[in-house]
Amino acid sequence: MELKYNVLVVEDEKNIASFIRTVLEANSFNVIVAKNGGEAELMIKSHLPDIIILDLGLPDIDGMSIIKSVRQWSTVPIVVVSARTDENDKVEALDAGADDYVTKPFGTAELLARVRTALRHARNSESPLAGSDGKFVSGELTVDYDKRRVYIGGNDIHLTQNEYKIVSLLSKCAGKVLTYDNIMKQIWGPNFQSDNQILRVNMANIRRKMEEDPAEPKYIFTELGVGYRMIEAE
Ligand code: CA
Repeated sequence: MELKYNVLVVEDEKNIASFIRTVLEANSFNVIVAKNGGEAELMIKSHLPDIIILDLGLPDIDGMSIIKSVRQWSTVPIVVVSARTDENDKVEALDAGADDYVTKPFGTAELLARVRTALRHARNSESPLAGSDGKFVSGELTVDYDKRRVYIGGNDIHLTQNEYKIVSLLSKCAGKVLTYDNIMKQIWGPNFQSDNQILRVNMANIRRKMEEDPAEPKYIFTELGVGYRMIEAE
């Protein structure tokens, strides 16, 4: 018999909770629902779900404080559900340890993609990296971690050191959004005080070298006000 993943959905809006339940159950997940933060905190500890889908706007407890308290003892993937306008909430949630987010209103495909990506990254951090042949491949794009080079259709696109580090970092988290702050810290260090200007300049150069049409990127997407997301590996 197939072992199903257990998903805890924390959502006070009934129709959204039932939409998520329907989609996930149709795709072979077990679903349990918590209607508020208090229930969620109990169910997380008693059910130990494989993944949590967490609405940030709950009637009793702030969703953000649930992320922080879970992260003190667990690395269970957390996908946040957030309203379209709350860029700051998304950034805060990701920096507090959430793995990704979906923006209301969201569709079936987006929800499933976020859940599967979060579960895969959780698996990969437990066991040796999938793609441990030292390469990331998606479409024409190849990132060769041993040679520290990036190829498009077999051609070396000659990135600078920092450009390579950014592409390599995003590719290792492919499918997952990384916040500007997270990227800045990993490339320029925790003491680097600045706005995102230097990252945006680097990204513009990366896209000029990498993308056929830098205004319509195929490989690295902008999550407006939040960060960047690399396309999934093939
Ligand atoms: Ca809500």
